[in-house]
Amino acid sequence: MTSDDNDATRRQPTEIEIRDLHKSFGATEVLRGIDLQVTPGEVVCVIGPSGSGKSTLLRCINLLEEPSRGRIVVAGTDITDPDVDIDAARRRIGMVFQQFNLFPHLTVSGNLVLPQRRVLGRDKRTADRVARENLRRVALTDKADAYPAQLSGGQQQRVAIARALAMDPRVMLFDEPTSALDPELVGDVLAVMRSLAADGMTMVVVTHEMSFAREVADRVVFMDEGRVVEQGPAAQVVGSPRHERTRDFLTRVL
Ligand code: ADP
Ligand code: MG
Repeated sequence: MTSDDNDATRRQPTEIEIRDLHKSFGATEVLRGIDLQVTPGEVVCVIGPSGSGKSTLLRCINLLEEPSRGRIVVAGTDITDPDVDIDAARRRIGMVFQQFNLFPHLTVSGNLVLPQRRVLGRDKRTADRVARENLRRVALTDKADAYPAQLSGGQQQRVAIARALAMDPRVMLFDEPTSALDPELVGDVLAVMRSLAADGMTMVVVTHEMSFAREVADRVVFMDEGRVVEQGPAAQVVGSPRHERTRDFLTRVL
């Protein structure tokens, strides 16, 4: 280890660093000054009412939305720098949506291979191998040749997670990954996410699954009206929230 490594360790490196993030759509200010730091391997769950800006926050981290103001650094790269290579920056960030967005005309395996070849330029043999490894991680090796329409929603979402993982992301963002699923399918998707967290993946998860947040999150962030109202360990934010708005929200979702 070099002295630089030691210095970096002492500084508590952040994998995601967000400073004073603002986002407006026209006259509507949706994010009103978000500060958030995520350390390597940390799992942060973001909760809050509908319309509070949770999806917009994730979309800014992934540059699907351009921030109006503020700074976002991911894995040491300032992605809000106008000179940044957006495609290179995005490659470090895996995103899983409520709707799985699989390519319907490709098999499961094809869904994992195509982006690796197109975006990362991997040869077919490598892409096939990485696809198999990641299908194993989500326990779907037996579905490699199936088409998305032949799978349950929970299986499709696990394919979407495997597809994101096949790109070797530094961080994974999840936007309500289980909200579109029938209740009996939610558990398998959460189990995959739990094992990813145990493997040390840095994750930001927007979710209404409070049991997942309690069990897996290192930190829970409660957002309302474009601001972080409170954050802390799940036991504190979910178990004994300090703010009236957090309490109100929790009584509605728990
Ligand atoms: P959440 O995910 O917490 O439900 P969102 O980030 O989706 O909240 O939305 C926050 C607010 O921003 C909502 O009022 C929504 O209508 C608005 N909004 C989101 N995306 C757009 C957009 N592309 N254009 C205009 N308004 C938007
Ligand atoms: Mg949302």
